[in-house]
Order: sequence, then structure tokens, then C-alpha cells
Amino acid sequence: MTYTPLTKHSFINVLEHTITYLKRQGVSYADIRLEECVSEGVMVRDGEIDRLWDKLDTGFGIRVLHKGAWGFAASSLLTETEAKRVADDAVSQAKAISQMGYGARGKGQGAIHKNPPVKFKHKSPCHIDPFIIPIEERLYPILKATSLHKNYRQYKKIHTIEGFMDFKKTHKTFLNTEGSFIKQEIFLSGAGIKVIAIDGRDVQVRSFPDSHNGIFRQGGYERIIEMDIPENTPRIIEEALMLLKADYCPSGVKTIILGGSQVALQIHESIGHAVELDRTMGMEVSLAGGTFLTADSIGTKICSDVVNITADPAIEGGAGSYIYDDEGTEAKRIDIVKNGRFVNFLSSRETAKLSGMESNGSVRASGWSHIPLIRMSNINLESGEGNLGDLIADAGDGILLQTNKSWSIDTLRLNFQFGVEIGWEIKRGRITRPLKNPVYSGITPEFWKSCNAVCGREEWKIYGLSNCGKGDPIQNIAVGHGAAPARFNKVKVGTVKC
Ligand SMILES: [Zn+2]
Repeated sequence: MTYTPLTKHSFINVLEHTITYLKRQGVSYADIRLEECVSEGVMVRDGEIDRLWDKLDTGFGIRVLHKGAWGFAASSLLTETEAKRVADDAVSQAKAISQMGYGARGKGQGAIHKNPPVKFKHKSPCHIDPFIIPIEERLYPILKATSLHKNYRQYKKIHTIEGFMDFKKTHKTFLNTEGSFIKQEIFLSGAGIKVIAIDGRDVQVRSFPDSHNGIFRQGGYERIIEMDIPENTPRIIEEALMLLKADYCPSGVKTIILGGSQVALQIHESIGHAVELDRTMGMEVSLAGGTFLTADSIGTKICSDVVNITADPAIEGGAGSYIYDDEGTEAKRIDIVKNGRFVNFLSSRETAKLSGMESNGSVRASGWSHIPLIRMSNINLESGEGNLGDLIADAGDGILLQTNKSWSIDTLRLNFQFGVEIGWEIKRGRITRPLKNPVYSGITPEFWKSCNAVCGREEWKIYGLSNCGKGDPIQNIAVGHGAAPARFNKVKVGTVKC
């Protein structure tokens, strides 16, 4: 078969005709996403390139709703014949499923809210395009940072310094049978290093920036420059060496202060995933896909009064930002937890309609070949008052825990245990010594109800990851979290002994 791809522009005309064709098939609703994603990344080890990758991924997916049943088909062949074939495939799936009665959750109706038609174009800010920077210049910060320990006797226990950089540019064109036409372009940039120190069986890790898998944010190469990775690496090396000599974290029930990135992960695992409405409805049970929250949980207290959590898809630089989601709903900033009370789920047009609500625009797919799901955008712990020094000074005795190392949480997002890279003992409001291998555990509502302070705006930062996993087959997607250090009472703390 000869494959003559159309230009993206002429293929968009084909997709407009395909929307007209889909309307004639008598479906309740259909949408098409054409996506082109360019990505480039590198992993380095001890100042040398370990792995380089670049990828161009282009294709389109068609989603069809017929009598409450979905059909979905996708292809990377941008031709007129293929567009019709994929449309027919999606329609026949939806019709077959509805005839079998499996569209029952939509009760045979058009099971989504109607959206007004919208014409919209958006480009996320990118001040320095990473793809046009010569590679040697682009890689300089992590090549330098990961070679700083070489040839120094005092660093002989530094086994390895690893680092990565990752850049992604995604163009999305969205069309639907309601008459919407939305174009969005998003740049995502991320980087980080990990210092590994070894002494016998003792392995200690410190990461920079403060996150176990680097930090991803929307924007261009300016995001890498602002991290100041080489400038901060000597401190991280010293901390990794210090941990080799440090005492184990003492066990017991203690006051803890979580550093900002650990708060971000705590929000992600115990709140963000738990408030996805498809989980509550039992539509998403794979990969720890349940939740302790039910439809009746709205209005109940799941955190203390000082905890306010929002979903904000429009936050500038958030890794999960967008203006319209992948089913054409305008993104909205909403409260998830207000003064400790749970007030909102993340919803899709379908789950919202089934629950008698309106979608808050929380639906994304990880690419053109996947059906969109309810996903976190940027889920943020709103800032409180004071800086980290104030939180420590008011803590009495406790432990400051920074930078995630390991995590585990049950399928209902209820019982969790996290390990972090470093603990700092606090005695009478002052930091006294570093502690190695701390772990802490809890039960989500009890833990968040024990939060008695969140730092102010001066400590508030946007963290972000590129690989939040959900669905089967799994979809990895970028998610952001604004967070500041926060203090919790009576938390079970322990250690891992080598
Ligand atoms: Zn996740």
C-alpha cells in the first residue's frame, strides 16, 4: 500500500469533513483529536551521556458516543481513506456495544452534558525553545553537575551522579460534532539529578531539585536555567555524604514537617487520585484505581481547617495546565477541599452528567491513540502563613522530612507509607542533626486532619511530574502540584535499617 501523508493543514480539512460524516451516522456525539508530539531527552551519568532519545509521534483518535456506549479508534496514517475507516470503526464499536446493552451506565441516553461550540487557539508560554539550542549547550548544566565529584578524594564515596533532561512539545487539534475547533500547543520541560553515595551496604541518595524524579513544568529551556542545578550540586553531594554518617531516624509517634515536594506527592497520591470521579463510580479499577470517597462524601471533613486544596488547570507553568480539556470543556479552577471539607470531585462530561453535576474539565488522554480519562491537572495545597523557620520554631520536638524516596498506598488511597531521602531532627524548635532512612505512615483522612500549619506564599512552589500513571493500558501524563511545607501531629515514624 502506498502511503502518502497529507500535510497537517490539509488533513485538518479532512477531519472537518469527517465530523460532518460522523453526524450523518446518527451518533449522539463524536470528537476527533489530532496530535503531534515532539520529544527529546537525555540521561547522563558521571558527566557522560548514557542515553539519548528523540521521538515524533503523530496521529488522530476518534471517539464516538451512541446510545450511551463509547467507541474509539485511532491511526497514525493521515489520509482521507484512513480517516473514514477510523470513523467507521469507532461508530461500529459504539453501535455494537450499545446493542449488547453495555451502554447501560448511560441508560441509553446521550450520556454527556452538551458544551457550547467554541473556536479557540492557545500556545503555552515558552521563552527559550529547547529544541533549537545546540545539544552541547543544552546539556551543559547536567553534564557539569554530574561530573562535579570526579577526581576529588573527599568524594570517593560518591558512587554515581545521574541526571536527566526531557523536553516535549505537543500540538493538539480538537474538533467535535458540537462545532468546536480548539488548537493548543504545550511545551513541557524537566530536569533533575540524583547523587548516590555508598559505604558498604549503606546506600544514600539526595536529589535536586527537591524531587525524586526531577521537576517538570510547562515552558521552555528557561525552566532548566532557573533550577540552577550545577550551583546546587555541591550541597547535595555534601548531604549525601553526611547521610552515610547520620543516625537512623528514631521510631515513634511524632510531629513531622513535610518539605514542599513531599507535600506535593502526598497530595498527589492521597487526595488527587482519590477525588477522580470515575474511581468513585467504579469505572477505573485497575492500577490502584479505587477511592475511599463516595458520592456521599461531598461536604464531609477529610482534612483539618487549615487545609485548602484546589484544582487549577490554568496555572502558569503548571505541568498539567491547559485551557480546554480533551473533550472540549473549558478548564476551571475549583476547590477540592475547602477549610478541611471535601467539596468537589474531578469530573468528565459523562461522570458529571451521571452525578447531576457539570464537568469541571478534568479529562485528558496521554496521546492520540488513547481514549481520554479523568486526570489531575494541577492539584495544589493553598499556602498558609509563615516560612519554614517559623514552622520549625513552633514544632517543639519533631522531624523535618524531605524528598521522596519510596511510596506505597492501597487501592482505596487510604493506608500509605512513604520513605524520604533525609530527615532533620527538631529539638525545642531547632534543627539538631540529620537522620537517615526515615519512613512515615498514616491513613489519609486522619493524617490530613492532623495538619496544623501550612507555610505561606514565600515557601510555595510549583512541582510537577511527567509520569502520573492511570488506566489500562496505562496512560502516563504530566501533572502539577503547588505546595508548601506543612506540619502534621502524631504521625507514625520509623526507619529502614541496612
Ligand atoms: Zn499519579
